[in-house]
Amino acid sequence: MKPAARFGILALMALAACQTVHTTGGGAVGVERKQSMSTLVSSAQMDSSAAKAYSEVLAEARKKDRLNRDPAQTERVRGIANRLILNTSAFRPDAPRWRWEVNVIASEDVNAWCMPGGKIAFYTGLIDKRRVSDDELAAVMGHEIAHALREHGRERASERVAQQLGVTVLSVALGLGDLGAQLTQTVLEVTLSLPHSRTHETEADRIGVELAARSGYDPRAAVSLWEKMGKLGGGKPPQWLSTHPAAETRIRDLQDYSERVMPLYESSRKR
Ligand SMILES: [Zn+2]
Repeated sequence: MKPAARFGILALMALAACQTVHTTGGGAVGVERKQSMSTLVSSAQMDSSAAKAYSEVLAEARKKDRLNRDPAQTERVRGIANRLILNTSAFRPDAPRWRWEVNVIASEDVNAWCMPGGKIAFYTGLIDKRRVSDDELAAVMGHEIAHALREHGRERASERVAQQLGVTVLSVALGLGDLGAQLTQTVLEVTLSLPHSRTHETEADRIGVELAARSGYDPRAAVSLWEKMGKLGGGKPPQWLSTHPAAETRIRDLQDYSERVMPLYESSRKR
């Protein structure tokens, strides 16, 4: 191995430490878990990879004429998003200034997601077929936004990087790897296909009801929406309704936390 390559590996190993971070404040719901992030995966890298992945998804939808087909519907979804985004400051002061984007994709899938840095997509399968109310839409959106605020994607990418470190370090040191391209792929996977952990889902549920309540949406809609979805049966459950945590535990937790944030809901409605 050439000295330069050896130096590259040593430098990367030194960089590849983990750091403990607080992505958000705890809010009224008290989400206080410390998170461990790989120093190889910065928020800025995640955001730019997400921006790339997001524009690929939008380009694909546009090509098939599936992007924002119904202007009134797009307005409705963006209007709800804007209110929630304003209130993200309760958890992260920097978040309202992120480069948020909100788009609606025509698809049978009952799905919605928010990529790192605030790139949101809602699928018409969720909005139309389930006849969701504004409160229910806000519940889903609050949950998805919470994943981005807590940088759950970066946390999962950090785990990935740690697992793949041996391979990545070697390929980068030998000039074979393209960390950027790999990260874009990882962002796509953690957003669109891999289910979140139970811990991440619980955090997103709790922060989500608080965001909704602060924005003047009834936080209890998270419970009714879950019950509505539970009755659906058949078909593939949406990613945000993945099997963790188990439905009953999750409903109980949502009931508990939506009650706790009711005062925030009441006072936001008086404004
Ligand atoms: Zn989720």
